[in-house]
Amino acid sequence: MDFAHSPRTTELLERLTAFQEREIRPREEPYHRELLARTDPWTSPPPAIEELKAMAREEGLWNLFLPPGSELAGQPLGAGLTNVEYAPLAEQMGRSLISSEVCNCNAPDTGNMEVLLHFGSDAQRERWLAPLLDGRIRSAFCMTEPDVASSDATNMQATATLDGDEVVLNGRKWWSTGIGHPACEVLIFMGLTDPNADRYHQHSMVLVPLPTPGVTVERMLSTMGFLDAPGGHGEVSFTDVRLPASAIIGGPGQAFAIAQARLGPGRIHHCMRLIGLAELALQLACVRAGERVAFGKPLANLGGNRERIADARIAIDQARLRVLHAAWLIDTGSQDALGAVSQIKVAVPNMAQRVVDMAIQLHGGAGLSDDLPLGAAWTIARALRLADGPDEVHRGVVARLELARHGIGKWSA
Ligand SMILES: Cc1cc2nc3c(=O)[nH]c(=O)nc-3n(C[C@H](O)[C@H](O)[C@H](O)COP(=O)(O)OP(=O)(O)OC[C@H]3O[C@@H](n4cnc5c(N)ncnc54)[C@H](O)[C@@H]3O)c2cc1C
Repeated sequence: MDFAHSPRTTELLERLTAFQEREIRPREEPYHRELLARTDPWTSPPPAIEELKAMAREEGLWNLFLPPGSELAGQPLGAGLTNVEYAPLAEQMGRSLISSEVCNCNAPDTGNMEVLLHFGSDAQRERWLAPLLDGRIRSAFCMTEPDVASSDATNMQATATLDGDEVVLNGRKWWSTGIGHPACEVLIFMGLTDPNADRYHQHSMVLVPLPTPGVTVERMLSTMGFLDAPGGHGEVSFTDVRLPASAIIGGPGQAFAIAQARLGPGRIHHCMRLIGLAELALQLACVRAGERVAFGKPLANLGGNRERIADARIAIDQARLRVLHAAWLIDTGSQDALGAVSQIKVAVPNMAQRVVDMAIQLHGGAGLSDDLPLGAAWTIARALRLADGPDEVHRGVVARLELARHGIGKWSA
């Protein structure tokens, strides 16, 4: 395996980094300040983001996440990069809180676009995939429910009931990321269709246009005080929502298979971005440790700070190699990809949380203020120990595979 940057990655990375320095960096802090100052941050995103999106598209820094062979109506899509090629670019985008959206590579839209690409009908792709790829609309993914343990995707109780040539949705979802965005025009709803089918074929995924009668955003949630506007995370009720049965993706009962496929790339992309976020935190920590003086010495020369910085560097580099290895396993179609993705889904958010925490500590009170992105970075890392499945579920997968290697458990050969 070879993790050296390909010529295409090298070229894109240079252009992406230059674009971030020249266009994104000067606008990022004012963008966050403007959102923070608003009483209702969900009315419209600050104009900077749309200006930046237009520039990124012009520069060819757009839809970089799409793998080779992605096409719509016979037209190739995106940069056609393998996961190993995309990883350094996602990492670079992860060093900023807005770059992924600027380059149309942000969650949850990327995962939703991949669902439409791989499982959508021609009509569904034309209606929803095309505007998502253009960055004209945003989307949300509504699986998690407040009333059931949603770590287990087969638990969902909200219903998607077939009634003639219609499907009727009822139930309540929460943590629907992106639903607050004024441009959010479609959501993917996961609901119970046939409770008598085997547990992996009971649920369906349905495309729901916004607005649709019966769909109500009951409230927006904060993540440890952060609103994550303008996308945010909503609690959403569905009351007798009627749609044509053609809104079901891939046919009734296919939700579990689609969810597994959707979360695979989504999880590894989150990990790639988190490596960048950890790099940003370490960079800020080093600058602070070099510049600030206490007890007659730079912070870098006090206590165990050098060791902390060294440990952060070691942890980030280890995590990056694990992510690249998982990416390579996916690219080569290896069966080991499943376990590798679960491993990094545990390792990387925990690593990023520790590195950001170290950077906060080195900054003293400033580390917890809005003046720096460290509080937001810590919250993102912490949230990703739950979003896309909690640590424990991924550890369960890793342990099951490991035990099976030794002939233990019902999964053994
Ligand atoms: C910021 C953020 C964004 C999110 N975005 C979305 C989104 O866009 N769409 C969406 O549908 N959902 C989203 N989620 C929800 C997320 O996927 C769920 O919170 C997660 O899957 C866990 O489900 P739950 O909250 O119901 O926890 P539960 O299932 O109730 O689990 C609670 C705890 O039980 C323990 N546990 C569970 N299973 C096991 C096990 N097998 N072994 C040991 N312990 C276990 C773990 O400690 C776990 O944290 C988001 C969450 C957050 C925080």
